[in-house]
Amino acid sequence: MFESLSAKLQGAFSSLRSKGRLKSGDIDEIATEIRSALLDSDVSLSVVELFIEQLKSRTNEVLEDLNKSTNPANAVFEIVNSLLIEILGGSARRIRFAKKPPTVILLTGLQGAGKTSLAGKLAKYLKDQGNTPLLVASDLQRPNAVTQLQVVGESIGVPVFAPEPGNGVGDPVKVAKNGLTFAQDKLHNIVIVDTAGRLGIDAELMTQAKRIRDAISPDEVLYVVDAMVGQDAVRTAQAFQEGVGFDAIVLTKLDGDARGGAALSITQVTGKPIMFAATGEKVTDFDLFYPDRMASRILGLGDIQTLAEQTKGAFDSETAAKLETKFASGEDFTLDDFLAQLEAMKKMGSMTKLLGMLPGMNSGANSGAMKKQLEQFDEGELVKTQSIVQSMTPLERHDPKVLNGSRRSRIANGSGRQVSDVNSLVERFSQAQKVMKQMRTGKGGMQMPRGMTGMPTMPNMPKVSAPQNKKKSRSGNPAKRALES
Ligand code: GDP
Repeated sequence: MFESLSAKLQGAFSSLRSKGRLKSGDIDEIATEIRSALLDSDVSLSVVELFIEQLKSRTNEVLEDLNKSTNPANAVFEIVNSLLIEILGGSARRIRFAKKPPTVILLTGLQGAGKTSLAGKLAKYLKDQGNTPLLVASDLQRPNAVTQLQVVGESIGVPVFAPEPGNGVGDPVKVAKNGLTFAQDKLHNIVIVDTAGRLGIDAELMTQAKRIRDAISPDEVLYVVDAMVGQDAVRTAQAFQEGVGFDAIVLTKLDGDARGGAALSITQVTGKPIMFAATGEKVTDFDLFYPDRMASRILGLGDIQTLAEQTKGAFDSETAAKLETKFASGEDFTLDDFLAQLEAMKKMGSMTKLLGMLPGMNSGANSGAMKKQLEQFDEGELVKTQSIVQSMTPLERHDPKVLNGSRRSRIANGSGRQVSDVNSLVERFSQAQKVMKQMRTGKGGMQMPRGMTGMPTMPNMPKVSAPQNKKKSRSGNPAKRALES
């Protein structure tokens, strides 16, 4: 998402940067370019107009001062960054917990928006933070919604209150009410109620949502929006806001390739913040929504914070600590450590998604080739590689130098692979080991970023060239400067 917007904005700024001192006409020019980039990305006209008006007034007000700075274009970039953060809602909004538990969260939205999947994602997220959520199956309309919630609940170890079979049978208001009583009895501190949607906003949907809301007085009503739908999603959200009301928005399917207009318009149009974002079908493809990180990605600065958090989160704390100590003490990185990293990589999910968080990877000259190579990266390779390492003895994992021909063929047989696969793994592993050494010693200009020693090395990754960073000068933009340092 946002790829085309990101590319256009970066293009506009690269021509502004070539200008040096800025005149009012230059501001008008970049404002026009940004305006058309936002409109092309399907951002609401009212939001675009407001954005451009603010951009012009804020920039022209300080034009003289801007021109005193070493890089006036970067000062404009910073203004655009802060405007983007503002239209995305300012700061991250957290759940308001009830003073007296349970905290009741009601999920609403159109059918297919991703409510039921989101119920599971949210429950897992809250459970991982030490809460004891209960899921309540009040979507009794959509075929299989109840079963789907039961399956997801089981997979994450969260109980599901589902007294009715659904598929058109049962009273959703009664289920929601009884679910709340059940949660109070069983001392669950959070209740997440999944409700039915329709294919479009209609009177029946509104009435049912209102009845459930009035029956359980939720602490948070979340409106779930499929970000792929574009302007239509914004219009229906507005109608739902007027008819029923909600406290915050959840954007789903941000992993899709839609233009991103809904995400950029919805907060301004409805006056409600985006609280969470879902970026895939797995229960872990979910996080709080951070307007500043999203703005940073749109402007091509990447999202290093999320990347570092996900990398850290994928390792259990014991493995992460062990790897950090090992790394710091200068011990060799072994195939056992590599195995732990493969496990973590499987947990972290798609490589394309992870690398999209690096600066310059969402668009720009290198991104196309990079993406192509990543698409060729077969995640199934991880499993194959894992089986090879698992067929090795502890000695072989610790010291791959002992791997002579007969050992290699035994391993190939044991893992159901070819000897050439074993050879290739060992060869790539020793390259990775060298890279780890260089990072530790800082040789070859490489240094492991702080807090990212748990970052997996990727012996079976295709070779990719890093983006060219031609400019050595310090950036005038604090966000970018922080990334540079
Ligand atoms: P509901 O009708 O609102 O309950 O929608 P579901 O939870 O059943 O989701 C509809 C479809 O969207 C399912 O196939 C989900 O797997 C898929 N889905 C939900 N969230 C995401 C997401 O963030 N990314 C992607 N790619 N698919 C999603």
